[in-house]
Amino acid sequence: MKTPIYLDYQATTPVDARVLEVMLPYFTEHFGNAASRNHSFGWTAEEAVDTARDEVAKLIGANSKEIVFTSGSTEAINLALKGAVEMYGDSEHGKIKGRHIITSLVEHKAVLDTCKHLEKRGCEVTYLTPDKTGRVSVEQVAEAMREDTLLVALIWGNNEIGTINPIREIGALCHEKNVLLFVDGTQTVGKIPVDVYEDNVDLMCLSAHKLYGPKGAGALFVRRRKPRVRLVSQIDGGGHERGMRSGTLNVASIVGLGEACRVCRIDLDKDIAHATGLRNRLEARIRASLDEVHLNGNAEHLLPGCLNLSFAYVEGESLLMGINNELAVSSGSACTSASLEPSHVLRAMGVGDELAHSSIRFGIGRSTTEEEVDYAADRIIETVVRLRDLSPLYEMALEGIDLATVSWTGH
Ligand SMILES: *Cc1c(COP(=O)(O)O)cnc(C)c1O
Repeated sequence: MKTPIYLDYQATTPVDARVLEVMLPYFTEHFGNAASRNHSFGWTAEEAVDTARDEVAKLIGANSKEIVFTSGSTEAINLALKGAVEMYGDSEHGKIKGRHIITSLVEHKAVLDTCKHLEKRGCEVTYLTPDKTGRVSVEQVAEAMREDTLLVALIWGNNEIGTINPIREIGALCHEKNVLLFVDGTQTVGKIPVDVYEDNVDLMCLSAHKLYGPKGAGALFVRRRKPRVRLVSQIDGGGHERGMRSGTLNVASIVGLGEACRVCRIDLDKDIAHATGLRNRLEARIRASLDEVHLNGNAEHLLPGCLNLSFAYVEGESLLMGINNELAVSSGSACTSASLEPSHVLRAMGVGDELAHSSIRFGIGRSTTEEEVDYAADRIIETVVRLRDLSPLYEMALEGIDLATVSWTGH
């Protein structure tokens, strides 16, 4: 077994060998520009792009014409939110629908930062606070709806805690109220069954590198019927992708995205069983040896490979330092890279700073093994036990002293 063990599949995934194999010829012999209409080099590339488009569509229950290729989810999010606001929130494009957006405090930064940008451009944004498990309810969305609400933008499966939002119910509400629903499906597509029509989704982003495809490729689903969604393009020049996203297509990576989607579709049940089994094994093994372990997330509505745990009475940084050489995981304070701020997601769920700092996100993927999970659990147990042995707070807790009632003196 090779260390460090990679348990950070929410951050990115390796390219599946089956995917890489299909991609390779498109760097060399099939290097054509998919927009070249006059020769076979172009036709071959275009055909490959069409196949990929069909595969992406098939995985999510869409029509191929509803798939716009982008460089990834961040770009797709920008196109969806800014494109919708420009189309339906500006008088320039006809009837103004409104400029109010509903989102949540547990979104990925790509959504939150885009919303901040739109606020500067005159949009009003309501940020819903999720429940303790990180979930937003349909009632909350209903309550936040206004006459001028244009768009609801919500994450489907959360990248930090794995909590799955009730998208189908929220989508039904949006359709009833004639409001668009954008969903960040980056962690969800390829991980659990997704059907954009059954799930009432109007716009959805996905990213190849989160589902065993290459980095730098992704897609936006743009619904074409009931309702037909129109967007103002954010990148102009050449009119590629039905005018919604210009730029020469990244053929090899798009081929990779398509194949990655095909593999996810045929392996979905197997992948779910594998990830769920190992996630449960990891959690059970840790809990068998440690008390005061808190699940961050919703046990009933959780992405298969995701486990986010907080370890009370240990200091986050020491915990990370204790395991860093052997486990590649993310922590509740490292998510915003260099800063030591606790994660905005955990904070929004009401997790205290101490527990947020001591949280570890485990991501289990297609190539994770039982052996790796057991090794990871043992390293965590070992480190937490060692740190707690040094902790006067843990000792007091063991003695049954309620720390909340202790009056602290000194500085
Ligand atoms: C990774 C991620 C993104 C950003 O995707 P990129 O393709 O890397 O730009 C957006 N949302 C969620 C939930 C993610 O996990």
